[in-house]
Amino acid sequence: MGESTIDHAAILSARRDLVSYGVRLLDDRLALGTSGNLSVRVGDLIAITPSSIAYRDTSVEDICVMTLDGEQVDGRASVSSEWPMHRGIYEATDARAVVHTHSEELVALSLVCDELPAVHYNIVAFADSVPVVGYTRFGSDALARGTVDVMLDHRAAILQNHGAVVRSNSLAQAYEHALLLEWLARVYRKSLCYGTPRILSASELNEVRDEAQRRRYGGLTNARERP
Ligand SMILES: [Zn+2]
Repeated sequence: MGESTIDHAAILSARRDLVSYGVRLLDDRLALGTSGNLSVRVGDLIAITPSSIAYRDTSVEDICVMTLDGEQVDGRASVSSEWPMHRGIYEATDARAVVHTHSEELVALSLVCDELPAVHYNIVAFADSVPVVGYTRFGSDALARGTVDVMLDHRAAILQNHGAVVRSNSLAQAYEHALLLEWLARVYRKSLCYGTPRILSASELNEVRDEAQRRRYGGLTNARERP
């Protein structure tokens, strides 16, 4: 890669954003300790949070900068153990940012359910539902493959006995959508206390997409990926 093709200002900005959103992961209870990870794509490079450094102790210099081939070109720490999953998502989709959480609500859901169904129309930010990817060890190629398979036509996946992954066009939107996913899971759990939830149909969800597109609601309209 030629030096001239690297947008240094954009990479620095992405690294700063990753430091601040890492702290938000803890504050919003989407992860504990050093768990979870975040990344941003800048051209052909990926900036990603490091392994084994507490979010509140992570500095801009710790954030790793990787090529898609897996070469670390900057960052003084070791890359996140879930690098294969992040790389796979960037290779297979048009994602510009990936947020991986270990949220309590979604881990609990993953132990019992095969998917998060359409309990609210905002689920179209992801697809018609969000599937649970069967358990495989953290950091494994099998986990990366299973997650990428789902991420081809969904903007989120729930990882059994593990957490969740969201992809989007920006770190800010991916993070907001991680919070939305958590909220949807909470609504679903509460609805189960009342009885059998009513789930939105595919045609109702398509109607939502059409209306969002007409009103130019970006967060919803850009989620039309399914045929
Ligand atoms: Zn994880």
